[in-house]
Amino acid sequence: MKAYRTRLTRLPKDKCDVDHIRRLTALTNLAYREYEVWVLDLPQNIQYQLYGSFKNYMGSLVFGTTPKRWFAGTWVSLKTLRVYQDGSMKGDRTAPVVLEFRSNNDYKRNVIKIRQVCKNEPRYVVELTMPKWVVERLREGGDIKYAMIGLKDDEPYLALIAEREVAQYTPSEYRLVVDVNSWKYGIAWGLIKNGKLITWRTEKSDTFLINTLYQQTIDRERKVGKLKRIGYSGSGKVDEIKEQAHARESRIYRITRDKAYFLASKLVRKALKYKALLVIDDMTEESRRELLEERLPRNVIKLLMSNLKRFVHQLETLAKWYGVPYEFRRLPSTICPVCEHELTQLPGRTMVCDNCGFKAPRDKIPMYWAIRLSNSDREVDED
Ligand SMILES: [Zn+2]
Repeated sequence: MKAYRTRLTRLPKDKCDVDHIRRLTALTNLAYREYEVWVLDLPQNIQYQLYGSFKNYMGSLVFGTTPKRWFAGTWVSLKTLRVYQDGSMKGDRTAPVVLEFRSNNDYKRNVIKIRQVCKNEPRYVVELTMPKWVVERLREGGDIKYAMIGLKDDEPYLALIAEREVAQYTPSEYRLVVDVNSWKYGIAWGLIKNGKLITWRTEKSDTFLINTLYQQTIDRERKVGKLKRIGYSGSGKVDEIKEQAHARESRIYRITRDKAYFLASKLVRKALKYKALLVIDDMTEESRRELLEERLPRNVIKLLMSNLKRFVHQLETLAKWYGVPYEFRRLPSTICPVCEHELTQLPGRTMVCDNCGFKAPRDKIPMYWAIRLSNSDREVDED
């Protein structure tokens, strides 16, 4: 099985013609729709890149590269040439992206050269330091066969795509169950061995800090509204407060993003350690509804749900990359795992069954369901 991982690197804006890159992404959109448009002023070598077989690894970018509408920018896939220390090469010699591995010990001496993509000028080259990430993926047996160039918030980026041939291991008697909620209640995980819950934990992002930052954002937005009403809309003070509000929102977003990447990597390493089957219950939609029922404002919900899609995507990406067998499974949190009766929620998110008396914290219910399902899976295996 082929597995992919992607790394984004911001390109120096002063060395890139953003309009030119935008034009390339518009042409890629057409190419994706199987229209061939040959433009006279573009070098043929670059135009050939637009029609490469890129669809198989497009899903590796978390924000997606499938064009949603006509002429929207679609990331341009680019072939790479890898040049090694001993002078040997892999890939297409005319490829627009060249990875030069100059040193084994000092990865900072390795460079990436982007030829003729960042500006429509003959022999135009942008040189970058190679990210450590590339060396790490190579060490794991990967190769950087493709790259992509595109715009994100109008900033030019290079995406490096690592490919690796990997076989999934056969799962042991362990199962690692991951239950994706919201940052308010956290991401719950449990390690199950032969139908018994060994460890269980709820991982929260620092919700207290998020709440404080959010409250500060709201306060600042209110202040801006007040100043505008009394006629100060164009003043520097208003801009300053707006900026402060924005900075806090970005900080919340960064906190949840870092936590998402950290947790995905921690959980996949745990699965690898126990050779466990990874069971993912992505119930973010259900969690969104729960938060709505609590009458939280929509923008708070948005922040509490931020980067959870990214977390699930990263979890799946890493599972594929390291050969961890995984499955998505619905694990209810409001149905009794003993008698399948509807559960009643008590204060403190405790769930109780009026039918058989079963009682447990809400976030633990999916773990009981996972145990129940693993037992019935085993019975099927033994048949
Ligand atoms: Zn029950």
